[in-house]
Amino acid sequence: MGGRCLSFGLLSLYIMKIISYLIICLIPLTIYGENRKENRPNILFVFSDDHAPHAIGSYNGWLKEINPTPAIDKLAESGMIFVNSFCTNSICGPSRAVIQTGKHSHKNGFMNNGNAFDWNQQTFPKLLQKAGYQTAIYGKSHLKGKPLGYDDWAVLPGQGLYYNPDLIFPDKKRRIEGHCTDVVTNLAVEWLNQKRTEEKPFLLMVQHKAPHRSWMPALRHLPLYDDIEIPEPPTLFDKWTDNAPGARQQELEIDRHMDLNYDLFVDLTPGFHQERSQKAQDRSAWRNMKRMTPNQINTWRSHYKPKDAAFKKGKLSGKDLVRWKFQRYAKNYLRCVKGVDESLHTLQEELRKLGLDKNTIVIYSSDQGFYIGDHGWYDKRWMYEESLKMPLIVKWPGTIKAGSKQEEMVQNLDYAQTFLDLAGAPQPKDMQGRSIVPLLKGEKLDNWRKEIYYHYYEYPSVHMVPRHYGIRTNRYKLMHFYEFGDEWEMYDLKKDPDEVTNLYGKEEFLELQKSLKKRLKNLQKFYDDQSDTSVRPEYIEKYRKKS
Ligand code: CA
Repeated sequence: MGGRCLSFGLLSLYIMKIISYLIICLIPLTIYGENRKENRPNILFVFSDDHAPHAIGSYNGWLKEINPTPAIDKLAESGMIFVNSFCTNSICGPSRAVIQTGKHSHKNGFMNNGNAFDWNQQTFPKLLQKAGYQTAIYGKSHLKGKPLGYDDWAVLPGQGLYYNPDLIFPDKKRRIEGHCTDVVTNLAVEWLNQKRTEEKPFLLMVQHKAPHRSWMPALRHLPLYDDIEIPEPPTLFDKWTDNAPGARQQELEIDRHMDLNYDLFVDLTPGFHQERSQKAQDRSAWRNMKRMTPNQINTWRSHYKPKDAAFKKGKLSGKDLVRWKFQRYAKNYLRCVKGVDESLHTLQEELRKLGLDKNTIVIYSSDQGFYIGDHGWYDKRWMYEESLKMPLIVKWPGTIKAGSKQEEMVQNLDYAQTFLDLAGAPQPKDMQGRSIVPLLKGEKLDNWRKEIYYHYYEYPSVHMVPRHYGIRTNRYKLMHFYEFGDEWEMYDLKKDPDEVTNLYGKEEFLELQKSLKKRLKNLQKFYDDQSDTSVRPEYIEKYRKKS
C-alpha cells in the first residue's frame, strides 16, 4: 500500500513537472505566435489605370526629364523597382481579374472588358481574410458586381468619372464632390483613421481611375507643363511597315482616331463651351463636365478657351496637327499622373503619422502600360513593350535593400501568391503565378522563369486590335495574330527596343524562330490555354476592306 502511495506520489510529481514544463515552454510560444501574427506586415497597394512605366521618372523613359512622379521615384529609391514587369492581357478588367485570382484570363473567365467577373471564385483577398487580415478596396474595380473578400469597400461604377464621381458603397451609391483621385485617396485615409482594426494586419487597395481616358486632370494641375514641350517619342510617326497587317488596321492612332473634341476637349464650334447638343453631352468627358460645379466648369473653361482659340487660328494639318494633338494629350495624361503621384505621397504621410510606416509594405503598380504617342498611338492592348509592361515598385522597410533594381521577369499573375506569401498564408495549388517575396528579399534564384506568356482576346471591339498571343524572353519576342490567318512578328528587343524590324521568316533567324515557337507551345501547355485560336473567316472580309 505504502509502495503504491509512493508510486502514485512520484507519478503525480512527474505529471506536475511535465505540466509545468509544458506551461514554461508553451507560454513563450503562444506569446511568440501572437507577436508573429501582430508583426505580419500591412500591405498598401496603390494601383492606377493605364500608367505606363515610361511615364515614371525612375523607369528612365523618354519622359524622365519632365519628372512627373517624385513620390513614385522616392518609393523606388527606398525600395525595389522591377524593370521587367509585365501583364498577361493588356486591358483594364482582365488585368484586375488576373490579380484577384492569380490565374490567366482563360482560367478566371474574364477575358474581355465586356465580361463580368465571377466573384464567387477563389480570390486572394478572401484568403487573406481567412488568414486574419482586414481588407479594404477603394476606387476603380472594373470587375462589375459587388466586390467580395473585402471588409469595407467603395467602387466606381464601371469606368467612373473624374469629377464629382458616384461611388457604390456596401449600402448605397453616393456622389462625392471633388476630383476622383482625391476622392479615392480621402476614402483610404478615412479608413486608415476610422475603420481600421488595431489588432489585425491589413490589406488596403487604393485603385485610381487616373490616368485613364478621357484624361481630365484636377483643376490645380491644369497649368502644369504649360510652359514646356513634351519630348516626342521616337516612333510618333511610325508607319508599321514591317508589322503584321493588324498594326495597320487598328483604330488607336493619334492622327486618325484621337478625337479633338472627345479626347482633347477642343472647342470646335461657336458656343461649344456653353450649351451642347444631347449627343455631345452623352460623350464621356462632356457628360462629366455637366456634373461639374459652376466654379469647377469656370476654371476648366478659362484654362482651355484661349488655347483652343490659338489652335483654331493656327489651322494646323498633317504632321503639325499630330504634334499638337500629342502635346495636349501627353500633357493632360501627365497631369492626371501628377494627381496619382500626390496620392501616393499623401497615403504614405498618413501611414507615418499613424506610426504604421515601419510595418507596412507599399506597392505601386498599374493595370498595364500605355502608348503615349509611341508608334503613333494611344491606348494599350498590344503585346508590344509600351503596353505589355506594368510599373511595379515595392517598399518593404527593413527587408528590401533601398534603391534595388530587379531584372527578373514578373507578371501581375504573381501578385495574388505574393500577397498570400507576405501574410504567411498558404498559396493554393491552382494559382498560376509565383510569389516574388524571395526576389524582394534579394535572393538569387536559378530556377526563376525565363519567359512569360501573353494572350489578348478583345476583337472586334473598340480600337480594333486583333487577338494575339505570344512569348517574351529576356531578349526576344514572338507574337501570333491568328484570327485572319497565320500572321507572326518576332523582335530582338536588345537590338531593336522599339520593335520596328520584324525578324519573322528571315533566313538567319529561322532556328531562333523554331525554338521560340516550341517554347511558346510549352507555355500554352503549362498554363493550359485551350482558348479558341482558329481563323475567323467572318472577320476577314471586313478586315481586308480596310487594307
Ligand atoms: Ca487600364
